[in-house]
Order: sequence, then C-alpha cells, then structure tokens
Amino acid sequence: MADPFDWVEERAAERARLGLTRRLRLAGPGLIDFASNDYLGLANDPRVIEAACRAAREHGWGATASPLVCGWKPPHAELAEALAAFEGAEAAVLFATGFAANLGVIGALVDRGDAVYCDRLNHACLVEGARLSGASLRVYPHGDADRLEAILARERARFRRVLIATDGVFSMDGDLAPLPRLVALSERFEAMLLVDEAHGTGVFGPDGRGAASELGVADRAPVRVGTLSKALGSLGGFVAGPRRVIDHIINHAPPFIYSTALPPAAAAAAREALRLVEAEPWRRHRAREFGRLVAQRLGIEGITGPIVPFVVGDATRALDLAGRLRSLGFLVPAIRPPTVPRGTARLRISVSASHTEEQLNALVCAIQNLA
Ligand SMILES: *Cc1c(COP(=O)(O)O)cnc(C)c1O
Repeated sequence: MADPFDWVEERAAERARLGLTRRLRLAGPGLIDFASNDYLGLANDPRVIEAACRAAREHGWGATASPLVCGWKPPHAELAEALAAFEGAEAAVLFATGFAANLGVIGALVDRGDAVYCDRLNHACLVEGARLSGASLRVYPHGDADRLEAILARERARFRRVLIATDGVFSMDGDLAPLPRLVALSERFEAMLLVDEAHGTGVFGPDGRGAASELGVADRAPVRVGTLSKALGSLGGFVAGPRRVIDHIINHAPPFIYSTALPPAAAAAAREALRLVEAEPWRRHRAREFGRLVAQRLGIEGITGPIVPFVVGDATRALDLAGRLRSLGFLVPAIRPPTVPRGTARLRISVSASHTEEQLNALVCAIQNLA
C-alpha cells in the first residue's frame, strides 16, 4: 500500500531540480552576520537583556494564557502604551508575531465582498492575510500607484470595503512604498490603508517612526503594523492606530483572541529597545549610512536604508555566491523564489549599527571579486 505522504518526495525532487530546496542550518559562530534584521544592534544589548531578565523574574517566563483571559501583564500594557506614544497613535495592541498581527488585522478589517490591494512585492503575511480573509485579492505592480489608481477607478464601486495593504519598507528590496500617493488614493477612493512598518520601525523617519513618517504622511496613514522582532531585537508584533480600530481588532482578530500572549520578558525587552531607539539616534543614522555606502559601492540604486539587495537572477547562482561568501567568513543569505519573484534571486545584505567600516569594506571587496 502506498504511503499517503509519498507525494512530498515528488515535490522535493522538483525543488532540488530548481535549486529551491531550503534547509535549516545552525547560525554558526565565527561568521560576520549580514543576514539578521537586528539593524540597530539591540538584540544583544545588555540593557535589553537585563530588562527581559527582570521581567521574567517578576512576572514569570510564559504569559500562561491569551491576552483576554489572563495573559496581559504589566509589561504588555506598558509596551502597548509606549508604542502608541511612539507612533503618535491613540492605542496599540500586541500580537505573538508580526506575521500574526497582519493576519489578524486584515482578517478583522475585510471579509467576503471586500477587496485587498497588495503591492506585488508585499511580504507573504500581508498576502496570506488577504487570502484568509475571504476578500478578493488584487495585486498591483511594485510601487505602481498609477496602476493602482486605474484599478480602483475601474472597480472600487463593486466592493463594499477596500483595503490597500503595503510594506512601508520592502523586506527583500529595501526601497520605500510610494506612501504619499497611496495615502491620496486611500482618501479619494474611501479605502482603508494599512502600512506594515516591519523594516521601518526604529530605522526610517526623523525619529525612527518608520517609512510613513520619513515620507511625511504618518498622520494620514493612521493604521500601522510593526514588529518587535527586527530593529527592536525582541519578538512579537503590534498594530497602532485610532482607539476604535484597535478595539475592533481586540474583538475580531482570531490570532489575538485565540493565541497566548507574548512572554512578558519579550515585551519588556522591546520596551527597553524602544527607549534606546529614542535615546540613541546614532544607531539608525549609522545603519542607514552603512546601507547607503554598501549600495553605492555595489552600484545598487534607490537604497537609503540597511537592506541592500544584490540581485543575481538565477537561484543556483545566488546559492553558490552565498556559499563562497560563507567560506570567506561572511553570512549573507541567498533569497530565492517564492520569497522573491522568479529570476530575481539575490543576496540580501543587511547591515547593522553594530558593524564596523572594516567589515563593510571586506564584504564589498569579497562580492566584487566573486561576482
Ligand atoms: C518580517 C516581516 C513580518 C513578520 O514579522 P515577524 O515578527 O517576524 O513575524 C511582517 N511584515 C514584513 C514586511 C516583514 O518583513
């Protein structure tokens, strides 16, 4: 009798043929890390670690229940309040991850009969959120507000509610969404707008408030998702926005209602990291300066932050390049489809405030020699 799981082997063979197999690998010591999203170098900051330890001793390690039961502890409340203040929002709420936050907020805002408009390069969790919501999913070409405008003009009237959902900073490309245009479209077409600031928080904007702030439209893009897991060096996701929207999410987002709250220590660590974002602006200045420097030296345009995409095209070639860099002591991930569109496999270089200029120079020289 055939094992009903046999079919997964055919899929494995197909993946291998295309150079798309993914494997877990221990993030070994001894490599210079150009892979992590710890843009400000806060994940290992002793003050962040101490805040986590203190919270764990005081409130326990696990939150023990979902937030609406008894999992919402003082560190969660303090962090939510600090995030709302930081974001200039009336309120904020926490999720277990940024991924869960996007699933939750999109599912709470749209349903069958509605539509979600996504940039082609949006992060997978926005697309998954749109799919799971039951709303129609529409995808417009990357950064193309003109196309979005034409689509909305044609079909807005067909849907009850519509939501434009976009990365603020694109996770694999490092560029910014055309937020001033998207804001104008959301106003003209009565569309809700959701900006995912996963790579913007702490890094972009004069005060580290993200891409919407950098582009001067934060007050016109009031609902923003963020993660605690990138520049804030911890774990978790959040949504900041008007009180009534946050209250709606608390009542209608299954990933919030039916999932255990973050460990209090994760919330306390993010709270301390947020304090450091405000107290130590040199971190974001340095991360951005380093990003611009590497992009410029590798001839990559349009990069003003720490994510630098070095596109090579072919997945096998990207893997090969990453392997050679690894043997030279650099950890730089090869990003392949389906994370990025077919034919655009790349090295995704991510720089951090904790790098040194010597390390950047060494990486740039290594890539120039290999590519
Ligand atoms: C990483 C990422 C997320 C998910 O955040 P996690 O906290 O890691 O789950 C969401 N959106 C974007 C754009 C991301 O890059």
